[in-house]
Amino acid sequence: MISVDDALAHLFELVTAMRAEAVPLAEASGRVMVRDAFAARDQPPFPSSAMDGYAVDSAAVTPGAKFTVIGESAAGHSFKGAVQKRETVRIFTGAPVPAGADRVIIQEDVTRTGDEITLGDALDAGPYVRPRGTDFTVDDAIRAPRRLRPSDIALLASMNVARVTVTRKPRIALISTGDELVLPGETPNEDQIVASNTYGLKAVLDAEGAEARILPIAKDNVPSLTTAFELAQDSDMIVTIGGASVGDHDLVADVAETRGLRRAFYKIRMRPGKPLMAGKMGDTPMVGLPGNPVSAMVCGKVFLIPMVRVMQGFPGEAAPRHSARLAADIGKHGPREHYMRAIVENGEITPAERQDSSLLSVLALSNALMIRAPDERPREKGELMEYLHL
Ligand code: AMP
Ligand code: MG
Repeated sequence: MISVDDALAHLFELVTAMRAEAVPLAEASGRVMVRDAFAARDQPPFPSSAMDGYAVDSAAVTPGAKFTVIGESAAGHSFKGAVQKRETVRIFTGAPVPAGADRVIIQEDVTRTGDEITLGDALDAGPYVRPRGTDFTVDDAIRAPRRLRPSDIALLASMNVARVTVTRKPRIALISTGDELVLPGETPNEDQIVASNTYGLKAVLDAEGAEARILPIAKDNVPSLTTAFELAQDSDMIVTIGGASVGDHDLVADVAETRGLRRAFYKIRMRPGKPLMAGKMGDTPMVGLPGNPVSAMVCGKVFLIPMVRVMQGFPGEAAPRHSARLAADIGKHGPREHYMRAIVENGEITPAERQDSSLLSVLALSNALMIRAPDERPREKGELMEYLHL
């Protein structure tokens, strides 16, 4: 058995970054940009008004001063001339501030009669002029690798970057194995259950920006498993679920090896998720997850997401850990790293009472996986514990 960290290191060796492709900005949200992007212009590209009002030379501003209105500057329609000391230009938000002006007097501070304005006595300080390039200037960079958030997309658009270079979405085949399984919506026999793992994992992987595909359930026999692997051939990674222990009906390893799997490892010193196998079938990375639903989901979080991130162009890193104070004492811990279903609330963490790896209802109520290190000493209420966000 190997440690979780060692397993992760092996798993990172199995995967490489997908090839890069240029996509239009409208399709880039959530994708991982792998080439730096640069602003094509300054923003704003001219000194721009932040208010509706009158553009003036600040040197001429005193309470009660009068100015002659000589024109108008609206967004997209600039005033072409220059403003002299006693002159002003009617201006609107986003419009270019004309030459000679460096302050916008808000319209609330002005009385207008025909072509003349008179300033009030108590003027708002202003100056309500956004200097050229105050948001960004030409060649300012957004650095890769970066998962593009909606705010990044808006910024890139503003920079006049119409296409970005991102990694292709990793295509991941998900195979449930077991004679007892039917698909959601089907009618199970008395001795059957509904496959949940492929559905949960597809949600986990798709949320991370992968493209997961649920294949037909493979039965616990060699021909059926062989067919499933054949269907998965054009994927960037194959994930099987169940059939990975050493029971009589656990054939995944046998079939995978017949098809050329070179195993990197088999068991991990971890709870839940001990029987996890991984390796390469030809060029395709393959991960065999344990069948218990919570184990599969925990392995998705601890192993598959970090692997997907490498495929997207990020460096190999374990899932980020957070910490919270233990809500009550807990005893000494056993030899395997444990990812306990837990609830974090108001900075305190409480592990669920029932930790059986078949209990999806407990997982669904949890918002954290509290980590206990192998052979960890008893911990007291108030001590900081590490956890993964769910
Ligand atoms: P196995 O690893 O095949 O021995 O499966 C361990 C346990 O997980 C058994 O109770 C299986 O019925 C259950 N199981 C296996 N695959 C799935 C699945 N895709 N969805 C839900 N439960 C599963
Ligand atoms: Mg099975």
